[in-house]
Amino acid sequence: MAGPRLYSPFDKTMWESVAEGKMKIQRCEECGTYRYPPGACCPNCLSTEMQWEEISGTGKVLSWITYHKQYLPAYPAPTTVVAAMLDEGEILITNIDHAETKDLAVDRPIRVIYGDHPDGYRIPRFTLADGPAS
Ligand SMILES: [Zn+2]
Repeated sequence: MAGPRLYSPFDKTMWESVAEGKMKIQRCEECGTYRYPPGACCPNCLSTEMQWEEISGTGKVLSWITYHKQYLPAYPAPTTVVAAMLDEGEILITNIDHAETKDLAVDRPIRVIYGDHPDGYRIPRFTLADGPAS
């Protein structure tokens, strides 16, 4: 069941785009830098001018960790958290199906998929872009 939506002052548009399965992040109108997580100004040039752009949905693995203890109801152990480098250059802390953990490697191509949380939120997750290792 969906609960009340809670947003920071800057991330409402992002979560609404995720809910539609088309995640958008901020992009600076002055210098073109992508901005994630959403914020008030550009970390590169401090401009407050920005647009929302849909991400390509592709990226690569930077690192990962598997938790063998459950900390949150939506993430039964074991669960694998991945640091993903989006092709846009921003780093997203996300997760991947635990069954894919054995095939993870640094720089392995991944792509976004969307998962529905028990609390009603849809979240961006990732999967191996080229399928499991043979
Ligand atoms: Zn900028």
